Amino acid sequence: MINVFAMNAQQNNLECATPESSIPDPAGIYSYSTDLNYFADKDPVVLNIYFWGIKYPNGHNDFENREHDVLQAVANLNIMYNQFNIFFKYRGFEEIDSPVLPNDPNGYYILETISQYHGLTSWATANGYKKADAFNVYAFGWANWGGGIASMPGLTCGVSSDSIANNLTVHEIGHNLNLGHTRSVNEHTTRDPQNQYFNADVAGDKVVDTAANSGFYDSSCQCTPYVDQNTCNYFGTETDNSPDNVPYDIDHEDVINIMGNAYGCSEQYLTTGQGIRAREAIAAGYYNAAITNVSSLYEPYAGAYFDPNNPNDQLYKPLFQPGFDYRFFECDCDCPEPAPYEDISFSYTQNILKQVSKYENDFSSIYHPNHTAIAIKIENEPIFWPQPRRCYDNPYRKPNSGSITKFNDNVFNTNITVTQKDSLGINNNNLVEQLEPGLYKIEKRYEEGNTEQDIIFKQE
Ligand SMILES: [Zn+2]
Repeated sequence: MINVFAMNAQQNNLECATPESSIPDPAGIYSYSTDLNYFADKDPVVLNIYFWGIKYPNGHNDFENREHDVLQAVANLNIMYNQFNIFFKYRGFEEIDSPVLPNDPNGYYILETISQYHGLTSWATANGYKKADAFNVYAFGWANWGGGIASMPGLTCGVSSDSIANNLTVHEIGHNLNLGHTRSVNEHTTRDPQNQYFNADVAGDKVVDTAANSGFYDSSCQCTPYVDQNTCNYFGTETDNSPDNVPYDIDHEDVINIMGNAYGCSEQYLTTGQGIRAREAIAAGYYNAAITNVSSLYEPYAGAYFDPNNPNDQLYKPLFQPGFDYRFFECDCDCPEPAPYEDISFSYTQNILKQVSKYENDFSSIYHPNHTAIAIKIENEPIFWPQPRRCYDNPYRKPNSGSITKFNDNVFNTNITVTQKDSLGINNNNLVEQLEPGLYKIEKRYEEGNTEQDIIFKQE
């Protein structure tokens, strides 16, 4: 009964409990730039991320779909941050039973206070449920005080499990990357650095291209009193608190900003200045422990490559994380295991055997087919599709169908006879032996969609 009550009570609580930072920025780290060219010479940075699903103390779990939602969060993070050349490498997900505090009859699952959340993360850290080399996201059940909370800057955040697949995870990781809420009653409207009341670089989120605002969400009405929830435009007449009481200058992008707390209007939108601030926080070294190599993005997060000793198509699907545009180009090498990332000596064609959108949500379909190399679209790179990597060309993989084309005149013309072959037929070891003398084309078709053709002239 307690759990049902909590679910009903907390279902709509999307408020973020991350406190506003009143600490001035340390000197020499942040440029407060809003120049898109900032990213031109910035190499990709790849950050490990790991998720923990918090279950009831007795092991019960309200969120059967949580692993799928976690993968959606990974996709959302990459779709949001790749434009800043920030990538997230999914390192895994574990379900763990929550502990129980003596004076907390509900257990940790329903977090009644923010200090209980901190108790949860302290317990997790002490018990091996925190990765030292990754961002750690704790998908808790419900909380009385909000839907998410993050350390800022930091490597730990918590998100309510029913929000893990929506914008809230991207919002909390934004806090980890030292992005504040755009709201602040102390930030002034002017964006002119020469204006004596200019304080956009020291007040509020300390980002210059997010407009000053007092906050769009009012918790007393649980509504956005000055935001039209249909158009997501601001219609208020509020002013800043400078001596001139300058009206706020808030546009649609400020309302939908993912750090803007306009709830129903929040979208996957961050400004250039926010992206630069996140990159500068990374450059300052706060996340060095979680940084990994670009090559890690070309490794599966689950599944395995084909094992000739146990040939089962269903078992061997090396799965790749969602959130990227992939192209799998036809390639050729002696590679029963994928070539190392650094080895680009294999040959490949422009034939795309498989293409995956970053919005693909059938995650089981995102796997590395045989006879292909992986290309991941890197936003903002001069080469739209970078060098394909990790050619996987396993000769033990058998075709599942094919055909034999006989050229009846023993020359390449249109006088042909085509015989379709099923899996057994095309894999018959005596296939060529059984052919009459003559000129043939043997086509082998693979499950992945590619084909191989051999021309055979069988002598009398
Ligand atoms: Zn927040």
